[in-house]
Amino acid sequence: MLSELYGYAGRILRVDLSKRSVKIEELDRKLIRGFLGGRGFNVKRLYDEVPKGVDPLSPENKLLFATGPIAGTGFPIGTRLNVTAKSPQTGLLGDSNVGGHFAAEMKYCGFDQIILEGKSDRPVYVYVHDGSVEFMDAQGLWGLTISEAYDAIRKELRDWRVQIALIGPAAENYVKFAGIFFNLHRPAARTGLGAVMASKNVKALVVRGDGYVEVAEPDEFEEFVREVEEAVYSHEQYWPRRVMGTSRILMAANRLGFLPADHFTKSVVDYAYQVSGERLAVEYNVKNRSCFSCILPCSRFYVIKRGKFAGLYGEGPEYEPLAGFTVRIGNRDLDAALKAISMVNDLGMDAITTSEVISWAMELYERGLLDEGETGGLKLKWGDMDTVFELIDMIAYRRGFGDLLADGVAKAAKKLGKGAEIALHVKGLELIQADPRGLKGYGLGFAVASRGADHLRSEPFIELSDDPRIGQLLFGEAEATMRLGVRGKGKLVAYYENWCAVVDSLEVCKNIAENMEILPFDKMAKLIEIVVGMKTCASDMMRIGERIVNIERAYIVRQGVRRRDDVLPRRFLKEPIAEGPSMGHVIELEVMLDEYYKERGWDPQTGIPTAEKLHELGLHEVVEDLRRNGVELRPALD
Ligand code: SF4
Repeated sequence: MLSELYGYAGRILRVDLSKRSVKIEELDRKLIRGFLGGRGFNVKRLYDEVPKGVDPLSPENKLLFATGPIAGTGFPIGTRLNVTAKSPQTGLLGDSNVGGHFAAEMKYCGFDQIILEGKSDRPVYVYVHDGSVEFMDAQGLWGLTISEAYDAIRKELRDWRVQIALIGPAAENYVKFAGIFFNLHRPAARTGLGAVMASKNVKALVVRGDGYVEVAEPDEFEEFVREVEEAVYSHEQYWPRRVMGTSRILMAANRLGFLPADHFTKSVVDYAYQVSGERLAVEYNVKNRSCFSCILPCSRFYVIKRGKFAGLYGEGPEYEPLAGFTVRIGNRDLDAALKAISMVNDLGMDAITTSEVISWAMELYERGLLDEGETGGLKLKWGDMDTVFELIDMIAYRRGFGDLLADGVAKAAKKLGKGAEIALHVKGLELIQADPRGLKGYGLGFAVASRGADHLRSEPFIELSDDPRIGQLLFGEAEATMRLGVRGKGKLVAYYENWCAVVDSLEVCKNIAENMEILPFDKMAKLIEIVVGMKTCASDMMRIGERIVNIERAYIVRQGVRRRDDVLPRRFLKEPIAEGPSMGHVIELEVMLDEYYKERGWDPQTGIPTAEKLHELGLHEVVEDLRRNGVELRPALD
C-alpha cells in the first residue's frame, strides 16, 4: 500500500447533472495497483457502475474522463486522457483516447477522473476551476459548431488557458458516431461518446487549474527524462513523424498494398502522392504543434493557399481522415479532402465512420444497388466531392438519406435491407483505413478488439518489419512479424494488447511509447517507481495490461459478445486482393483466433475468459458478477 500519494491528484470528481450536485471522492489506492489510471480506471468503473441493460443515451449511462499518473509531470512524451461510456454506436464498450492539453489541466484542477452522471434538465456546460464546479447556462451554445462554441466559451470565461472538451451539432442530433472535441481538432472520436454527452444536456466540460503534480523521486525523474529525450531525438522515426505525423502512412500503405481505396476494392492507387502526407508537408503545412510537454510535435497546421478553398486552415490531418476522404471514397483532390475533413470536425463526427458510411453508399450506388430514389436524388459517384460535402451536412443534421447513415453502417444496411455483406465494421464499429488482408496481425486485432474494429487496442506495428528473425525470437514463430504471415499472430496481438492497455492507463502517447518502442514494460515499471513511488517490475506491468484487457472482455461478454462476434467482414475473408504487393491474400481468421484464445486463456469455443484466468488476475468479483448475469464460465482450460 502507498503511504504518500505521488503522481496522482488523489481525487475523483463526481458530477450529478440531475441534482446539480457534486461529490469529491478519494482515489482508491487498490485501484492504482490494479488498473494504474486512465483507460484502466475508466473500464473498472464502467464495469462496476453501468450494468447490463442500460440504454447508452439514458441518464443511467456515465461519461468518464480519466488520466494517469504521468499527466502533468512534464514527462516528455505527452499527456493523454481516456473518455469512456457505454457506446450508443455499438451498445458495447465506448472508449476513446485523446491528446492535447486537457489531461494536464484536469490534474492541475486536482482530479484524476471526472464522472458525469444523470441528466441536466437544460443545456449546460460544466466548468471546473479553482476547486469549484459551476453549471453554466449553455442554451445559447446549443446548435453551435465546434469552432463557434469553442470561441463563445473562451469569450464568456475571458480565460484563454481554459481547456475545453465539447460537442457539435451532430452529437446534439444523436448521430451515433459523434465525438467529443478537445482544443478544436483533437477528438475522442470513436464509439459515439459525443452523443452520450448530448444525452446529458452537456455542451462542454471545461477545466482550469493552478495545481501541480509531485513526483516521488525528483532527481531520478530528471535523469530518466534526459534518457528518454535522448532516445526520442536520436530515433530514426523522429523527423518523419515530426514533419508528417501519421499522414506519412498513406504512401507506405500504397507501397505495401493495404490502402482502403474505393471502399477496399483496391489496395493500391496511381495517385498516392497527390493526396499524401509528403505533399501536405511540402505545399500546405505552415507550423507544428505538440501535445502538453511532448518533445515530438507531430501535429501540423495546414493552409490552402489558392483555388476554390483558399484560406481554409486547420490542424492535421492525420492518416485516418486523410485516407478516409481521399482514397476510400475515390477522391484525388487534396483541397477538397481538407474541406471535407474540416466539415466533419466542425460538425463533431468521427472521420473514420463518416468515411465508411459514405464509401459504402458509393459502392452500392456504383454497382447499381442503390438508386437516386433511395438517396433523395444524390448521385453517389466515386470522388464526387460536392455530393460528399452535401452528404456530410445531411448526416450531421439527420436530413433525408443522411438520417439513414447517421446510425452507422451496420444499422444503415439493416434499415435499407441491403448492403450488409459490404458494410465494413466489427461489432458495429467501422473499419479503419488499413486492409487487414495486407496486415494480418492488425486484422486479428480488429476482430478481437474490445471496442470493435480498431487498431489502437493492439497496434502490432512490428509485423511491418517483415523480419522472421524477430518473430522467432520474440514469439517463437517466424511468421508472427511478417505482415502476410499467419502463425504466431495470436501471441503477437495478445502481447501488444497488454502493452497498449498499460500505455493508455499511464496516459502517455502510444506513438512514442509503443510505436517507437521508447517505453517497453521494464521502462514503464521504472517510470512508475520514480513517479509514484510504487515498487513494481515488468511482469507486474504485463499483468496490469492483461487485467485491463480481461475486464474489457468481461464487460462485452456481459453484453452478449461471444466468439461468433469476433469476425471480419466477408470481403476480407473471401475476396482475395486483386493487385499490388498483397495480391491474392485473404485473411485466415479462424486459425489466428484459436491461437489468440489459447494465448489469452479464454475458452476457444465461446471466447469467454475462463474462471481460472479471471481469478488469476484478481478479478474475483467479475467471476461472481458474470455468473449472476447468466454467463457460463469454464473453470479452466483442459
Ligand atoms: S507524438 Fe504527437 S500525438 Fe503524441 S504526444 Fe507528441 S504531439 Fe501528441
